[in-house]
Amino acid sequence: MENETVSRNFIENIIDKDLEEGTYDHVCTRFPPEPNGYLHVGHAKSILLNYGLAQQYHGTFNMRFDDTNPTKEKTEFVESILEDIRWLGADWEDRLYFASDYFPKMYEAALKLIREGKAYVCDLTAEQIREYRGTLKEPGKESPYRNRSIEENLRLFEEMKEGKYADGEKVLRAKIDMASPNMNMRDPVLYRVAHMSHHRTGDEWCIYPMYDFAHPLEDAFEGVTHSICTQEFEDHRPLYNWVVNEVGLFDHPPKQIEFAKLYLTNVVTGKRYIKKLVEDGIVDGWDDPRLVSIAALRRRGFTPESIRTFVDLVGVSKANSSVDYAMLEYCIREDLKRKAKRLMAVIDPVRLVIENYPEDQMETLEIPNNLDNDELGSRKVDFGRELYIEREDFMIVPPPKYKRLFPGAEVRLMNAYFVTATRYETDEEGNVTTVYCTYDPSTKGGNAPDGRKVKGTIHWVAAKTAVPVTVRLYENIVNEELGVYNKEDGSLNLNPNSLTVKRAYVEPELAKAQPYDRFQFVRSGFFCADWRDSQPGAPVFNRIVSLKSSFKLPVK
Ligand code: ATP
Ligand code: MG
Repeated sequence: MENETVSRNFIENIIDKDLEEGTYDHVCTRFPPEPNGYLHVGHAKSILLNYGLAQQYHGTFNMRFDDTNPTKEKTEFVESILEDIRWLGADWEDRLYFASDYFPKMYEAALKLIREGKAYVCDLTAEQIREYRGTLKEPGKESPYRNRSIEENLRLFEEMKEGKYADGEKVLRAKIDMASPNMNMRDPVLYRVAHMSHHRTGDEWCIYPMYDFAHPLEDAFEGVTHSICTQEFEDHRPLYNWVVNEVGLFDHPPKQIEFAKLYLTNVVTGKRYIKKLVEDGIVDGWDDPRLVSIAALRRRGFTPESIRTFVDLVGVSKANSSVDYAMLEYCIREDLKRKAKRLMAVIDPVRLVIENYPEDQMETLEIPNNLDNDELGSRKVDFGRELYIEREDFMIVPPPKYKRLFPGAEVRLMNAYFVTATRYETDEEGNVTTVYCTYDPSTKGGNAPDGRKVKGTIHWVAAKTAVPVTVRLYENIVNEELGVYNKEDGSLNLNPNSLTVKRAYVEPELAKAQPYDRFQFVRSGFFCADWRDSQPGAPVFNRIVSLKSSFKLPVK
């Protein structure tokens, strides 16, 4: 292969071998979601893995909706899923498929099995089927309908299709082995009656194929070679192989390969939990920036690149593990640190008045946009007698080692001048309202000609031209200390501080932000203009991530 020195994951090893031995002469993968909800970060792993392998082996990648269960599926989800996949950068070109388009072919495949004595119509109820199935320790019991004649099975199956039976009255089952140590092989159900409208085929069908019958056929019809799914389907693999072999129409039947799901520690991904958060109005939709659906990550300001890096860092394995959210944060910081302009925004403002600065004077400072990336150029920033600084950058009585402003202390105003605090004013409750200081005009640009040093540098905006904007700061939606789930009733332990909304003063340039524009607000983090709540000239900024990192890349 192309690059022998790179260690390859176990799926690549399987593919290499298949190509070498001529099992397949090309690679075709697919991503097969059920359109029953929004995609989350775990799905991103599957999408990027499947698409990545197709790219790497110059093969093809199919996008297929596994829409064989009409109860939970909706067109709304089809649209959102396609949008998310496109955004992640996976390109299915013209290979967009729907499992429901194969219903006629699946029906034919079932008829073939019946004709060959490999499937039968069974009248047992769902509960009886469960009882007859036996346990892991005991073999199952054969259904009394197992030995119906081929003619009778053909007639009954046809009648099932024609709507003669109610839901649950009859099913079609594979005739395999009721004593198999693998429970999935104990005459699994292939088709069920369901009088339901399908989001694409309407009322054309009242029988629907079960996942274990439909999925291998979908793969086989499309010429998929490597059908990659998650670990919990390992026990279904013998049935997968049984279906493609017994239906037997395929020269190069697909192969199922399982890998471990991606879990994030202390993060809620379960559909039913998210649904409840949406219904209870705790979040403002499936794309609330505190969630980890792909739509939520996009809205929060994550980039497709950061998610790709994350998925690569996690790697592909067969052992389930849980990854810390801090690793996702690390990836977006790494991506934006050179790409994003660094501007000044004061999130919790206090007025700073420079008493020896001329009343009516304003000056313009030229400030580089990103010291690590000259390509981002520089901008003009207003400076004047009245500024805003962060409340936490001034203390009346400083704690030990405090390097910022307090009465008598000298600090650097970032890219501007040295200032020394002289006095302050408070409101009735003792909160500081205004800090007064003097500046040293010889320190323009942030350095003293006499070489004297200051310990702290703080950021600021000019009160006269700063623009107030809304800023949203986030914490985990669940309380990590208590544990995600309540031990008594299984509900979520919510964190009441997961969202904080602030009015911040920002440089005028930030007021022009368009939806999805991303910036570093110096010293406080990376922010993204919300696509839904921002108005022209009045952006709302979501904090993607703060600048402080608890994550260390493991040393290999
Ligand atoms: P969920 O129940 O979490 O919504 P799902 O498995 O029901 O997920 P599907 O639409 O059936 O969602 O899955 C589409 C594809 O995504 C499948 O191939 C599945 O194996 C894969 N997938 C789902 N969850 C994860 C995950 N956490 N990590 C990696 N792949 C996943
Ligand atoms: Mg599913």
